[in-house]
Amino acid sequence: MKFSQTLAILIASALLFFSVRFLSNSDGTGRVIDSTKLLMGSFVQIKVPIYGRVDERSGKKAIDKAFEEIARLEALFSAFKEESELSKINRMNANETFKPSAEVFDLIERAIEYNEKTKGAFDITVKPLVDLWARSKNEKKLPSHADIKKELTRIGTRYIILDKLNKSVSFNREGVKIDLGGAAQGYATDRAIKVLKENGIENALVNLGGDMYCMGRKSKDEPWNVGIQHPRNKNKLFFEVRLEDKAINTSGDYEKYFILNGTRYSHIIDPRTGYPVGGNVVSATIIDDDSTRADMLATALCVLGREGLGAVESIKGADAILIIKDKGALKIEMTRGLRERYAVQEK
Ligand code: AMP
Ligand code: MG
Repeated sequence: MKFSQTLAILIASALLFFSVRFLSNSDGTGRVIDSTKLLMGSFVQIKVPIYGRVDERSGKKAIDKAFEEIARLEALFSAFKEESELSKINRMNANETFKPSAEVFDLIERAIEYNEKTKGAFDITVKPLVDLWARSKNEKKLPSHADIKKELTRIGTRYIILDKLNKSVSFNREGVKIDLGGAAQGYATDRAIKVLKENGIENALVNLGGDMYCMGRKSKDEPWNVGIQHPRNKNKLFFEVRLEDKAINTSGDYEKYFILNGTRYSHIIDPRTGYPVGGNVVSATIIDDDSTRADMLATALCVLGREGLGAVESIKGADAILIIKDKGALKIEMTRGLRERYAVQEK
């Protein structure tokens, strides 16, 4: 997700980019370090409340380490850096082998696992189609059915061969490419939280272009309060949830979409048809124990729509909120029990 199309915004957080600020909590209960940097093509905001064992100096040091970690991951996962491990993987011919670092291997393996758990909706081999639709956006011309059919022959995680012993990757078909755009930011969010913890932080909020993790509490008396933007009015909130040690991640049709001949084309592709997701899903929000899975599931749920709610319910720790178009109005649908668990407040 890109910040410019941000979906989830933090309540009462006026951002000051590339900076560190010390300010009082909106409720006046304490001070919070609020720091933002541009990384992985998004604004990354980290907030650390100053209470308990954390003072300004230790909080700031931990935040710097978390930013360094995200920069390290950007070098591994970037689709835009020629020397990233992902770019090296995508330059492989069929049956060539590449041994990435263990964490790149593990993320690919996890993405393949969630391809199965989402009935094929989350599919990192979707890249040739993502590229085809990106060209179509630039040239303002829709791809032909024949072009889409051709690209579909290279889509499918069965074309990725993982050697679990050597931790190496190969493709068994020419032209297969991996897109981690639906998982890498979530992964980086989890890693940033891990680094904060290793540096003594127990309460923090990491917001990586809309992929968020709320660690601990905002203050002794209050959990983190996260507002989800109205999908058709970015100055308005649609709902709020209260979170403690949870990730929250939203994917929607109001992110990197484009409009051609009056039709809105989403940046999320249905890997089964080759077309951008249409239908009645406006956005999918996942609340989960970790941000990597929340990222993957939010993308998948945009493809699956309300039929995907059952799949999310079967995953322990995961919950979903869908915003659906229904006879011209926007409607919320969610997994069972979510409203009570997270004190959802519709706005
Ligand atoms: P997100 O904003 O997290 O939903 O991720 C969307 C990004 O993931 C897109 O910009 C593509 O790079 C990639 N993507 C698009 N469709 C899919 C899909 N069906 N499965 C996995 N990744 C996808
Ligand atoms: Mg995602």
